[in-house]
Amino acid sequence: MTDRDPLLMIPGPVELSPAVLRAQATPPPSHTSAELIAAFGRCLRAMRAIWGAPDGALPVILAGSGTLAMEAAVWNCAAPGRRALVVDTGFFSDRMARMLSRRGVSVDRVSATPGCAVPAAQVAAALDGHDLVAVTHVDTSTGVRADVQGIAAAARAHGALVVVDGVCATGAEPLHMARDGVDVVLTASQKALGAPPGLALAVFSPRALEAHAALSAPPPLGLDLASWRPIMEAYEAGRPSYFGTPATSLVLALDDALAEILALDEGGRVGVEAAWARHARVGEAMRAAWRDLGLELVPASEDIAANTLSAIRYPDGVGPELVGRIAARGVVVAGGLHPAMKDRYFRVGHMGWVSGRPGLLERAVDAVRAALAG
Ligand SMILES: *Cc1c(COP(=O)(O)O)cnc(C)c1O
Repeated sequence: MTDRDPLLMIPGPVELSPAVLRAQATPPPSHTSAELIAAFGRCLRAMRAIWGAPDGALPVILAGSGTLAMEAAVWNCAAPGRRALVVDTGFFSDRMARMLSRRGVSVDRVSATPGCAVPAAQVAAALDGHDLVAVTHVDTSTGVRADVQGIAAAARAHGALVVVDGVCATGAEPLHMARDGVDVVLTASQKALGAPPGLALAVFSPRALEAHAALSAPPPLGLDLASWRPIMEAYEAGRPSYFGTPATSLVLALDDALAEILALDEGGRVGVEAAWARHARVGEAMRAAWRDLGLELVPASEDIAANTLSAIRYPDGVGPELVGRIAARGVVVAGGLHPAMKDRYFRVGHMGWVSGRPGLLERAVDAVRAALAG
């Protein structure tokens, strides 16, 4: 069982379900085995459902972390000399801006004070001939959720490609690529999807694939969609193929993790919509628990607070040593990450499998309460 001590409650990696744990513990299958081909194909089809992928979209699974998925989006969809607008809410949007700059893209930012979101109207007002808009769905450094739907609509109205970093959101916060008009949604296996770390996932819309086809110089071979597209298409069609060896054990674990999301059926909702509703309920309950302890949150208001993690200010007279005191009570939480305020708050992840385990969530709250008291 995974009711281990200490309980891992950081914003990724996360605790895994027993089935996911078992899946990754089997001997690694060959990348051309029937078992792996079937699992890989199911993962790609599950991604289409969970992402709400438009017709003609390309789901991709690479061995790597979320940062690699960001790099793949940048190299395949942005060309040197083009212009990008980055909705800058913290640590990971800053990373995205730096990646785009290195790609030779001219980057403008529309920035939020830490703990605030950037209203879609402010993004619309800043748009001025930009080819691409990048937004972090949940800013893991502040616990703030962006209005991706509003920002995507504004970007679309300007003809810009919309790239969403969904690393701390996809599978838990509402976003539907086709309905919301988003071109790339990328994530990593170890956050809201509830799988072990090591896989970079992204879905590219037909418009994103057109941007890739229009590149005058190709991306590095190992990142190029032209290298990986035939592989993904082969796996989805049930055929073996090879470009680079996939992380086969992790794909088996991902297969179970995504199947668990699609199998959810609660409160009149099924699949990813049930996962969204569950995370909304858990996020609200966790914020209420922190407030009951007299704690204040980093997000400036409830409507922009992410449901996948809580970013909590240290109370007066308490500092980063609290994280160690919580760990001494058997629960691992994370310190601050936003460079402007990292010593003033801590973070508790509550995404994935634990979102359906009230006892574990309570254990996390109890550990924080005890650490504050002692
Ligand atoms: C964790 C995270 C990343 C980076 O993912 P890695 O797997 O650590 O490389 C990027 N963006 C966001 C929003 C994240 O939460």
